[in-house]
Amino acid sequence: MKNINDAKKMISQSNNIVAFTGAGVSTESNIPDFRSVTGLYNNEEKYGYPPEEILSKSFFDNSPEAFYRYYKSNLVHIHARPNDCHHALCELEKKGKLKAVVTQNIDGLDRLAGTVNVLELHGSVYRNYCINCSKKYGVGHIVNCTGPVPLCKECGGIIRPDIVLYEEQLDSHIINRAVNAIRCADILIVIGTSLVVYPAAGLLHYYRGDNLILVNKTPTAFDSLAKIVINDKAGPIMIRLAGDFI
Ligand code: NAD
Repeated sequence: MKNINDAKKMISQSNNIVAFTGAGVSTESNIPDFRSVTGLYNNEEKYGYPPEEILSKSFFDNSPEAFYRYYKSNLVHIHARPNDCHHALCELEKKGKLKAVVTQNIDGLDRLAGTVNVLELHGSVYRNYCINCSKKYGVGHIVNCTGPVPLCKECGGIIRPDIVLYEEQLDSHIINRAVNAIRCADILIVIGTSLVVYPAAGLLHYYRGDNLILVNKTPTAFDSLAKIVINDKAGPIMIRLAGDFI
């Protein structure tokens, strides 16, 4: 309770907050994360490979059919809707308090909630392009495709999601914007991430303030760096923290 009140007070006094989020902010929208008990790591037997392997560039290149079987069933959730956490962050942005959401998520829920300055470190399932001619496609083309692999209407090339696969580099333009936002922030709120996926988790080291708030169901390796750690569900906690501005 004291932690929540202290965090709420810090948030009420700042107009320069940045949120850094992970898959845990979307589990309340029924999108599984990787490392919770019900996360995607626990259905490895069904597919025979861990998620990192299926979601790697070499796996995509060698077995696009198997990649799409996994990807469409586990990572594309077009009926998912933003939850209280996404909405609370959007409201803080509207009130001029939140400057950016830096997210590892590819589910597009921050944008659906209405947040404008969303830095998607790992891309988005909503954007797709042909690897041959670069023609762009929305997520509908992927979901509605009846064949094993979505193909380009113009040139017949394979379409891929505009997400960062394992073995690929993060977009340097997005990284620079994220580093700048984090470096300049008064308050950094880290929500729903195990902080084990690099280089994304390493961005936390650019934060120079001493108002790090961590909201995560389970402990992380960064807990000792935080001023306030709240081990609880992101949605209800963010509604309480942003309460005065919603
Ligand atoms: P992770 O699965 O490694 O960790 C999620 C963390 O969130 C866990 O520590 C868990 O305890 C916590 N958590 C789960 N539900 C929560 C809730 N309701 N409230 C608060 N905390 C909660 O996820 P990660 O750290 O984001 O790393 C996984 C990688 O997988 C990322 O790179 C991400 O791109 C990708 N991924 C994305 C999605 C998505 O877009 N929604 C889903 C699965 C995986």
